Amino acid sequence: MTPPVPLPSERGGQLPPAHNPPLPLPAERGGQLPPAHDLQRAAELIRSAQRGLVLTGAGVSAESGIPTFRGEGGLWTKYDPIKVSSIEYFLKDPSAYWRVSKERGRVALAARPNPGHYALAALEEAGHVAAVATQNTDGLHQGSGSRRVIEVHGSGRTVQCLDCGAREPRSEVQARLDVEMPPRCRVCGGTFLKPTVVLFGEPMPWPALEEAFDLARSSDLMLVVGSSLVVYPAADIPLIAVRAGAPLIIVNAEPTPFDELAGVVIHGRSGEVLPELARLAGG
Ligand code: NAD
Ligand code: ZN
Repeated sequence: MTPPVPLPSERGGQLPPAHNPPLPLPAERGGQLPPAHDLQRAAELIRSAQRGLVLTGAGVSAESGIPTFRGEGGLWTKYDPIKVSSIEYFLKDPSAYWRVSKERGRVALAARPNPGHYALAALEEAGHVAAVATQNTDGLHQGSGSRRVIEVHGSGRTVQCLDCGAREPRSEVQARLDVEMPPRCRVCGGTFLKPTVVLFGEPMPWPALEEAFDLARSSDLMLVVGSSLVVYPAADIPLIAVRAGAPLIIVNAEPTPFDELAGVVIHGRSGEVLPELARLAGG
């Protein structure tokens, strides 16, 4: 019997401690992969899984050139997160939001999936993974062939007018930022065009979260990749899976508050670790 894991509400709504000191990345350790026995143990868990659930965070896209929020070189070392990512500030001054997004959006739209994304798609194809729940808004899991992708923080590939509801591809809005700031709605001329991502202060997309919670309850493996696991309710997904008895594997560059719940923790770059895990698991 796995002892019950308290859900955040039972922990009095407290967030886990933010960060332990960073560990050196594999390249800094001479480009070596993590210890072979950890990879083997993780691969065995993956090989015997048929309903695995993956939760990814910004770290899985770091090797595609999209900066993370937290961790070394993270965006929040450069910007005030509340200013650039809250609905309150967006509504006050959409041009301030788009001035930052001009560069960030360009980078995200140009990014291509990396070997970590492809390895997760291969694990789904091989029947070990049922779905990928992602906190990312970059669309790279879909781009690498993952079929069941649950976007728990929305998608940055589409923009919606808050006045009339019209939608258009982000790439089209992005293309006119040089001549139009803030960008205007093509239908009603409104100036509140917002990517369909969840900003701070906005309601969560509950249907997507409920879908991920349901999959977590019935999963036989939980694999977390590239997430600091400090953002809720996304971080409830692995808690629910562990509580339901699923073994937890964490692949992240740095320690997370959930490491002690995990059967295997692999500190490394997901673009290197995941292909190796997929190879060892035979899928
Ligand atoms: P986070 O930025 O809080 O944490 C990222 C984690 O990934 C860190 O712990 C870091 O150590 C680790 N990491 C960095 N490079 C890695 C690599 N190559 N391999 C493995 N791990 C690596 O990200 P989060 O947990 O996803 O939460 C932050 C929020 O940021 C999410 O809500 C997400 O919506 C948003 N976000 C999305 C993107 C994107 O769509 N690509 C990018 C930045 C932020
Ligand atoms: Zn409009």
